[in-house]
Amino acid sequence: MPITDLFSNNRIKSILSSYLKNDIIPHSMIFSGPGSADILSFAKAFSKSLNCLSLKDDFCGICKNCLNIEKGTFPDVKILSPEGQYYKKAQVTYIVEDNFRRPLIGKRKMYILKDSHKLSENSSNAFLKILEEPAASNIFILLTNNLNGLLPTVKSRCQILNFQYPSKPEISKYLIKKGYNQDMVNILSNLSGANIDNLLELDFNSLMQKRSNVFTVLNKLIRKRGVEDVLLDLYSKSGSREKFIDYFRELVNLISLFLRDIIVLKLDKENKHILNIDYKEELVNLSEYITVNKLLFLIEKMEILLRDIKRNLNARVLLLEFIRSYTKREIEDV
Ligand SMILES: [Zn+2]
Repeated sequence: MPITDLFSNNRIKSILSSYLKNDIIPHSMIFSGPGSADILSFAKAFSKSLNCLSLKDDFCGICKNCLNIEKGTFPDVKILSPEGQYYKKAQVTYIVEDNFRRPLIGKRKMYILKDSHKLSENSSNAFLKILEEPAASNIFILLTNNLNGLLPTVKSRCQILNFQYPSKPEISKYLIKKGYNQDMVNILSNLSGANIDNLLELDFNSLMQKRSNVFTVLNKLIRKRGVEDVLLDLYSKSGSREKFIDYFRELVNLISLFLRDIIVLKLDKENKHILNIDYKEELVNLSEYITVNKLLFLIEKMEILLRDIKRNLNARVLLLEFIRSYTKREIEDV
């Protein structure tokens, strides 16, 4: 499988291919981009191309080296993730020491660091030393979806490749190849641009289940029936603040898409271009219960709430305040 067959990001593919053809390989690179760009596959493909037994400037995907790199069992390509919230000091010490050893069987030794923004300042400083004096055969690829989380001194020593969100036609093509039918593809490609970060790991059924849960929350919110219970229940079930924020972010994104559709349907009931086409009938019904002004107010409030929850410690208090402010009759009906 050649590099050109990787999913999306053609510009990056040609940059990587030209590195390989000209044999000018940067010692340290940052692959920065949204989750759906699948930067890990690109990093693996590049590692395979540098160690493939059959091809010179590309990878075959079927030789012993390619297969072992894919499985993560190739001794000279190390894929690391933070142990816990951050990379542990011992992990960085290991890389620093290992950096001086020659490759065991491969041509190049590669270190791929997932979530590299999770290097603490101390770790980054230790890590900087090897970025300054890398061994000739070694290559570091730092993966991140949060480029700002990396120290400027680290960034300035790396070649930064910025990945983009895949385009809608690319997403559709990918989903059809994965076996989804056209109806599913329409729903997913509509939703994905706005809110699906891990498109490649997407599970259609679980997404549909999530949307159905989100629709229940929205329904209660708009009809002002028992929304406190639902949101607070969600909060207490999620276990940790971090999990709740993740869940809530997803909830806000999905609800915003539903709200956007309700606005469109309020203006034109027959509109066929709404995002949640499979919920059309329910959304038309709901649109009777809310004005455009209130919808806009709700979208804005939910975004503010999400921002405040991320900043503030007491999500429960913020949730209650949000519900109170929304159910208060301060917004005039149109
Ligand atoms: Zn190969």
